[in-house]
Amino acid sequence: MITQKTTPNQMERKDKDGKVWTPDVMVYHIADGTYTGTISWAQLASSFVSSHFVIAKDGRITQLVPLHMAAYTQGLNYNSTGKTPMPIQSASRLVRVRAVNPNCYCISIEFEGFYADFYSNGVLQYQGCKGAITEEQITAAVEVEQYCNEQLKSIYGKSAGIPADREHHMGHCEINPINRPHCPGELFPYDEILNRIVSPANTETKTIYRVQTGAFSNKANAEKLAAELQNKGYQTIIKSE
Ligand SMILES: [Zn+2]
Repeated sequence: MITQKTTPNQMERKDKDGKVWTPDVMVYHIADGTYTGTISWAQLASSFVSSHFVIAKDGRITQLVPLHMAAYTQGLNYNSTGKTPMPIQSASRLVRVRAVNPNCYCISIEFEGFYADFYSNGVLQYQGCKGAITEEQITAAVEVEQYCNEQLKSIYGKSAGIPADREHHMGHCEINPINRPHCPGELFPYDEILNRIVSPANTETKTIYRVQTGAFSNKANAEKLAAELQNKGYQTIIKSE
């Protein structure tokens, strides 16, 4: 289930030349905040930040920005000279080649959690996870991906969607290695999420192989064999069909 909320912090997916982009890249962030804190901060007009989704440690999901709109997540940052646009510094070939504000074509997820230990008045409030999100967050990220692909197809047509490869799934640090080297963090499970997106079957329960020893029309004979097997230390059940 995805809770729907709104925020004024969004814009059209239009780049500097007026081209409107179809989103096809998923970007992961560590919120450096709590679930509710991250949501209310994104809803505040003066914060000028937002993301499409926020995922709590327990797997709850909130959507703040509709997919046809751009969120204020990756930022149009410049380097310290204020002159080099971020896409040029990016570690991602895709981002460098496109050379526009990545918010135009990205969908973003903020994961509740802190990269580093967070102290307040000298007291540890939250332990840093270095990007190691919870199992519930991984499952929710896969759910968000499926939801996005369905939504994108209904908005933009059948060929739309997020290609299931590492090039289209990146961390904020890959877009902006200069200013966001620790978002979402070096322990973030990119491959684990991608593997589950590519083969959802991997996450289903494992096949169980049973050994059958005999089939009898007479129940007493079945019980006799069961007793023999139990005596030899095998677990046995009798099933009727
Ligand atoms: Zn980030």
